[in-house]
Amino acid sequence: MSFRTLESLGDLRGKTVLVRCDLNVPLKDGTITDDGRIRASVPTLTALTTSGARVIVISHLGRPDGAPDAKYSLAPVATRLGELLGTSVVFASDTVGQSADDAVAGLGDGDVVLLENLRFNPGETSKDDAERREFAGRLGRYADAFVSDGFGVVHRKQASVYEVAELLPSAAGLLIQAELEVLERLTRTPEQPYTVVLGGSKVSDKLAVIGALLPKVNTLLVGGGMVFTFLAALGHTVGSSLLETDQLDAVRGYLAQAEELGVEIVLPTDIVVASKFGADADFVTTAADSIEETAFGASGLGLDIGPETAARFAEVIAASKTVFWNGPMGVFELEPFAAGTKAVASALADINGTALGVVGGGDSAAAVRAFGFADDRFGHISTGGGASLEFLEGKHLPGLEVLGWQ
Ligand code: ADP
Ligand code: MG
Repeated sequence: MSFRTLESLGDLRGKTVLVRCDLNVPLKDGTITDDGRIRASVPTLTALTTSGARVIVISHLGRPDGAPDAKYSLAPVATRLGELLGTSVVFASDTVGQSADDAVAGLGDGDVVLLENLRFNPGETSKDDAERREFAGRLGRYADAFVSDGFGVVHRKQASVYEVAELLPSAAGLLIQAELEVLERLTRTPEQPYTVVLGGSKVSDKLAVIGALLPKVNTLLVGGGMVFTFLAALGHTVGSSLLETDQLDAVRGYLAQAEELGVEIVLPTDIVVASKFGADADFVTTAADSIEETAFGASGLGLDIGPETAARFAEVIAASKTVFWNGPMGVFELEPFAAGTKAVASALADINGTALGVVGGGDSAAAVRAFGFADDRFGHISTGGGASLEFLEGKHLPGLEVLGWQ
């Protein structure tokens, strides 16, 4: 692992440093439901303020449409960040406008400001290089140096991740460093048996990573919404469960490839099927090959792996030396459909100390915390789902390459 680290920026006392964090936390009615990503950004910010830098924190939150949208404001994050840093964090109500100008002008050594959501500006995620460069220029004019610490976005070629790093003296922060140390253990020398557990809802995103992971792992456990595309590929009907019909051929290809490589893909043998999407739904457990044979017929929705599957997954995890888990096994946000995800989380916590268990993905991390597991029950909880998957796939991540990564 090599890239430019904080030391490469020299003495930062009195210098203004722009820090790209990933403070994209889940919010419910304006309240932060999992502050893991804010906590993860603290070491770098503390290192910078302690060294006397004037710190400007930038981040995105959610997916606003390139314009201000109050429900994606970072204001609640500024409050929580201030609590965690033990100092007041000035919040600017825009990203590169008058409020940001004023906040930056008021910075003293060791002070911290947080600018409003980067994605309120169309230049941040523009497909047009010149537009991204223009926006990066407006961010860059505030600062003497740039620190990239938003691990969750390093796979994105976006203005605050890539173009601004080209513009200013730039380095990786401590979070990116810590994330990569763990992920490198997974790619370079994973102790075997190596098991990957995949679930979640972004079906097509994650189907693509399976191909890349197959040559590297011993066992792949599949749960969550993507499982129904597998079951359908095997010829089973799946009722009204999540299904991406345009991925069926790809899935059949992976199943064949796995067989050739001697990788075991473990699919659920039982599924919790619900009458509708909601905590008050009726539900039954049924065999994975007969989802439409419940009282709900073709309108039945598979919302969790069943108990037999959960026990089998837990057994495989218990026998593994390296486990990477991305994506909940079911709709864990609804109590009746949380058991599968809970079973995987506790199996992973149980191997801690004797094997390396890594949790990746925003919702998976939120799930384990919602279940009451402390972060140190796991080998590592990654702050980046997509980024960690792409890293494991061996893809080139623009946000790392621009920091001299090799
Ligand atoms: P992560 O953020 O950990 O990478 P994803 O964003 O891919 O995970 O997926 C998380 C979401 O997947 C959760 O909100 C969960 O409710 C949903 N999910 C899991 N299983 C199912 C299912 N069977 N049907 C519908 N949604 C599901
Ligand atoms: Mg997610």
